[in-house]
Amino acid sequence: MAETTAPAPLERAQAEVADLLSELIRIDTTNTGDTTTSVGERKAAEWVAGKLDEVGIDSVIHESEKGRASLVARIPGADRERPGLLIHGHLDVVPADKREWTVDPFSGEQRDGYVWGRGAVDMKDMDCMTLALVRDWARTGTKPPRDVVLALVADEEAGGKYGAHYLVDHHADLFENVSEAISEVGGFSLTVRDDLRLYLIQTAEKGLAWMRLTAQARPGHGSFVHDDNAVTQLAAAVARIGSTRLPTVLTPPMKQFIEEVSDAYGIEIDVDHPDEALARLGSISRMIGAALRNTVNPTMLDAGYKTNVIPGTASATIDGRFLYGQEEAFEAQIDELLGEGVTREYITHDQAVETTFDGPLVEQMVTALKAEDDGARPVPFTMSGGTDAKSFETLGMRCFGFSPLRLPADLDFAGLFHGIDERVPVESLRFGVRVLDRFLRAS
Ligand SMILES: [Zn+2]
Repeated sequence: MAETTAPAPLERAQAEVADLLSELIRIDTTNTGDTTTSVGERKAAEWVAGKLDEVGIDSVIHESEKGRASLVARIPGADRERPGLLIHGHLDVVPADKREWTVDPFSGEQRDGYVWGRGAVDMKDMDCMTLALVRDWARTGTKPPRDVVLALVADEEAGGKYGAHYLVDHHADLFENVSEAISEVGGFSLTVRDDLRLYLIQTAEKGLAWMRLTAQARPGHGSFVHDDNAVTQLAAAVARIGSTRLPTVLTPPMKQFIEEVSDAYGIEIDVDHPDEALARLGSISRMIGAALRNTVNPTMLDAGYKTNVIPGTASATIDGRFLYGQEEAFEAQIDELLGEGVTREYITHDQAVETTFDGPLVEQMVTALKAEDDGARPVPFTMSGGTDAKSFETLGMRCFGFSPLRLPADLDFAGLFHGIDERVPVESLRFGVRVLDRFLRAS
């Protein structure tokens, strides 16, 4: 029935989406990376369960550890034989320091047409757009064409061990016969000019390679002549790693992205040196630039305990990110930079994922965006960071970042992720609800 009816006006969904977001932001779900100091995921999951229950949608909350709660609901589709679609979002947020903000980051304040607060774009916005939409559907008796599974999970901001990874490892049955997934970091607009906006749809994510580097050498007295010093060796390796820009590699989504940008702006882009041309995309170019190559940044240093003692070991951590298909090349690049006497080991490792920008689901995203914005030009891109897609992909799903937002031209959207004064326009949320409605009804 859903496929033939025209989209409902979605009045209630559009009216309540901002208020839902304010409420969810007020539930502080700070993830510190440590369960003993992280808060709020259980409360947030229960809040979502309550909002679903109000309209007759059943859900189940699974805890990996006390308080680390993830909610899953399956909304039956008209054709239950067809493989389902997963919409996953995370409930946790990164910490926010109130002193740095214009508003209290956990106030959910609505001001100047925006909802403000930690999680407003990462990613309680998408959580609440989805929630508003499925509540509207339930009230109007609308069924999606196939099963839609909602998963609002814990712990994404610390790698998903207590959220998505846990669900995939222990409750894979919840995702049975689900073939595709949508979630965060994609679907937002980048204004080229008044009548042209690129909508970046994420079809790939870089892999994660967090490593500890260790140098071991002869300990000794700080006053002696001493050539074999672990601190010196480690520092040299760290300096090499930190000051090297790894070579550009164009993966299929980024090749397509660059072609689209080149066409949209009417500029030639040298594929071997695209950085300069991409700088005109504004702050998003930092994220885009990182998707053109493997990257590595030194992040922590640890050595010594007294000024006049040369320690026998020194260590550092590095944050490495590799493109899909580039993992072996990346390891070789790091080994070359390490040099003699410095070893590496993984602290955290997660796969890169990539799918193609084609097929019915992609066409439905494109159609839905164009129906709500006639200046929309959807393009694929690779996300430089990671999301829970890495977990869900292991169940065989094609994963996309599609959290649709039409944004004001001058908004530094990339800077809002984990940023100070994180906020999202109310109009963008309403737009997102309408696009998701069209997309899901057609999918
Ligand atoms: Zn996120």
